[in-house]
Amino acid sequence: MTLGEYHKKRDFVKTGEPTGNDEREPVGKPIFVVQEHHATTHHFDFRLEVDGVLRSFAVPKGLPEEPGVRRLAIQTEDHPMDYAEFEGEIPEGQYGAGKVSIWDRGTYVKNKISSDELDVDLKGEKLRGRYVMVRFPKGGENSFLIFQGKEKK
Ligand code: MN
Repeated sequence: MTLGEYHKKRDFVKTGEPTGNDEREPVGKPIFVVQEHHATTHHFDFRLEVDGVLRSFAVPKGLPEEPGVRRLAIQTEDHPMDYAEFEGEIPEGQYGAGKVSIWDRGTYVKNKISSDELDVDLKGEKLRGRYVMVRFPKGGENSFLIFQGKEKK
């Protein structure tokens, strides 16, 4: 588990977000979720199950829904698996204050996942098909570009 940063940023007496203290074994296919987050700056959070936690990215404009569109994604701290179910209001004064709602969710098939690259087939309700993320050093230390990948033959 790599949830140290997640815990450090939050006061679970004040926020209703999951504590992530319950470790869970992976069940079935790996999952993903996209949460719309009305924080100080409106954005979408893209999270995928990797090694028992949700690897997480803030995507200011949301994931591309057509080929040829590249969007900036900033990697954020890993979130606990329970976070995939979270919707609600993070209270004023807390980290990420604002309303969170689930925009899409589903499972995915891994083509390749490393610390520098993700290549997955998403099977959500809105997002379906191949998505690729690659590091984008010009955008900063934790920056990636996300775009639709070509379908495999
Ligand atoms: Mn967020």
